[in-house]
Amino acid sequence: MRIVLLGAPGSGKGTQSKLLIEKYKIPQISTGDLLRAAVAAGSDLGRKAKSAMDAGQLVSDDVVLGMIQERLSKPDARAGFILDGFPRNIPQAQALDAMLARLSQPLQLALLVDVDTEVLMKRLTGRRTCSNASCGAIYNIYFSAPKSPGKCDKCGSNLAHRSDDNENTVRSRLQVYEQQTAPLVSYYKAQGKLRTVRGTGSVNEIFKNVTDIIEVQMRPLAAAMSAAQAAAAKSAPPKPAKPAKKPAPVKAAAKPAAKPAAKPAAKKPAAKKPAAKKPAPKKKPAPKPKKKAVKKAAPKKAKKPAKKKSAPKAKKKK
Ligand SMILES: [Zn+2]
Repeated sequence: MRIVLLGAPGSGKGTQSKLLIEKYKIPQISTGDLLRAAVAAGSDLGRKAKSAMDAGQLVSDDVVLGMIQERLSKPDARAGFILDGFPRNIPQAQALDAMLARLSQPLQLALLVDVDTEVLMKRLTGRRTCSNASCGAIYNIYFSAPKSPGKCDKCGSNLAHRSDDNENTVRSRLQVYEQQTAPLVSYYKAQGKLRTVRGTGSVNEIFKNVTDIIEVQMRPLAAAMSAAQAAAAKSAPPKPAKPAKKPAPVKAAAKPAAKPAAKPAAKKPAAKKPAAKKPAPKKKPAPKPKKKAVKKAAPKKAKKPAKKKSAPKAKKKK
C-alpha cells in the first residue's frame, strides 16, 4: 500500500497515519525524520542536506527524493509506505512519481483527510495544554473542555494556550496549507488516485472510512496478485521444491475459477427458446416474414427439417 496523506494541520491525519501503520505494518516516511537521520549518520545525502541547512537554504528536492528512495529500499517498506508532509507542490509530486516509476512502485492512493476550515480553527485555537510538564494533558475549550476552566482535570495545574495557536497565526497556517494542497488535490484527482475521507466524527469512525477506501483501492491489485500467485502455483508442481513458499495466498483465486464452470449450463436454455415460440404456426400466411425470417428462421428449420427449402421460397414471393 503506497499512500500519500494529505490533510490540514488539525485534520487528524497524523492519528490516522499511526493507525494505518499498525494495521498494515507499513512505515510512515517523514522527510523531517529522514533529514535528521541522514545528517546524524553523515551520509552523502546527509552532508548535502546539512550544507544547505547551514547556509540557511531549503534542502533541494533531489536530496529529499534521494533520501526517500534510500528509505524505500529498506525491508520494512516492501509492503508499502505512507508519505506525510511530502510532496508539498506539483514539481515535488512529479519528481516523486518519476522516482517511484523507476522503482516500479507507483503511488496507489492519495488520501485527503478533509475537515472544514471553521472546525480546524476551533480544533487548533481551542487547544489548551497542561503547564505541568510531567502531566502534559491536552484539552480543547470547544470539544473537550476541562471541568474547571483553565485548570487541568488531572493535576489542577494551569492550562496554557500556545502563542502559535492564536487565531491569526492559525488562520494564516491554514491558508498556506490550502494554497499548497489545492494543486496537489487536483494533480492526484487527475490521476484517479485521490480519495477523500471526512475528518469529522470519532477517530474509529474516520479510520473505518479510511480502511474501506484502502480495501477498495487495493482490490484490483489483490486480484492481480492472487492471479499471479495462482499462475505461479500452477507452474510450480513440476518443481516440488518451490510450492511450499506460496500455498496460502491461492484462496482468492477460487472465485474466478468458478465462473467458467457456470457458463456451459447457461447455454442450454438457448435450445429451448425456439420451442417456446409456438405462436408462429398460427400466422402461417407469412404476413410478417420480414421480421421473423431474420430472427426465427433458424429455429423453424430445426423443427421441420423437411420444409427447410420452402422458407427461402416464401421470402422470394414477396
Ligand atoms: Zn495536568
